[in-house]
Amino acid sequence: MNLEENKQNICSRCVMDGSDPEITYNSQGVCNHCERYDSLVQTRTFSGDVAKTELSKVIASIKASGKNKEYDCIIGVSGGVDSTYVAYRIKEMGLNPLAIHFDNGWNSELAVSNIEKTLDKLDIDLHTYVIDWDVFSDLQKAFLNASTPDGEIPTDHAINALLFKEASKRGIKYIISGMNFATESMAVRMWSYGHSDWTYIKDVYKKFGNGQSLKPYPHFSFFDLFNWTFLKRIKVVSILNYMDYNKDEAMEVLKNELDWVYYGGKHYESVYTRFYQGYILPKKFNIDKRRGHVSDLIRAGQLTRKEALKELEKETYPSAEMLNHDMDFVHKKFDYTEKEFNQIMKQPTKSFLEFKNKASKVDKIKLVLNFLRKKGILSK
Ligand SMILES: [Zn+2]
Repeated sequence: MNLEENKQNICSRCVMDGSDPEITYNSQGVCNHCERYDSLVQTRTFSGDVAKTELSKVIASIKASGKNKEYDCIIGVSGGVDSTYVAYRIKEMGLNPLAIHFDNGWNSELAVSNIEKTLDKLDIDLHTYVIDWDVFSDLQKAFLNASTPDGEIPTDHAINALLFKEASKRGIKYIISGMNFATESMAVRMWSYGHSDWTYIKDVYKKFGNGQSLKPYPHFSFFDLFNWTFLKRIKVVSILNYMDYNKDEAMEVLKNELDWVYYGGKHYESVYTRFYQGYILPKKFNIDKRRGHVSDLIRAGQLTRKEALKELEKETYPSAEMLNHDMDFVHKKFDYTEKEFNQIMKQPTKSFLEFKNKASKVDKIKLVLNFLRKKGILSK
């Protein structure tokens, strides 16, 4: 896309543009993501006194569900801001969580030390799940070869599967999530699709994997999700939506109270995530995930549009040295020669729509879930 085209095709409120091929604008030039954000904030987040009341109600239910049990809830931890802040806040409110960490082989040393240090200070038990590297790396490589921008899906899907599986196995009724609409409302399916679509993941692997069994890989079908949600009644609570969440303020608290160390970029606690979002997505797919992130911050009033545009002019990688280091690291871990990897970067891009998928089912399930939330049957 050339610059001129890009400029005309940019939202008048945030900075989303035609790099989402499905973007639409209203008559004021405001994009569908901004409209979705407004509706999410209105229906799924709380602020002020209402937030306090609702939050104490949720906390009371979680405590009650865990009476006489070792834990009352499960949290996923990555070493990043959101999940660490969740751990800090719920412990402060008297919950007794079990922390789960998915070790996919790509953790930065900083992430590991952040997790160990902060959980130790908070006196939270940690269960680390280490994935079979042969299977997992082959699945990641299958996504690279499939040429869709969904290379982070194998990690995201496995984390969700793990949290539900552990909750189900241990009879825990609540999963506390760090997802929040204030700083990450964006769901751009042409940028990243498949979080809950096992059909899609399986099909990519069938076509591009080396044929190993995916049994050791934590996964779930829609049937599993139904079972966990409606029969076992496991609830996911996005606790940050019950407070006025400000990332910068949260980071200050974590630095001061827990000796937590900043790692230099959103989701950069994993080397692969850093490389995928900082190099593969922008270079091969023309996708800059920061565009979605700063757009959220604009809508939340935590960044001006001008500041956001300036931010996007910066390089996607923190430094050239780091890029070289990570590039080398990725080649070695995947056992790629430079030529093989460059070949992958040059392949024409595809989307999930060219594989078996359950996207229409995902849309329908979302509608049902929203209805149940409105009726108060599911928590926000
Ligand atoms: Zn917008």
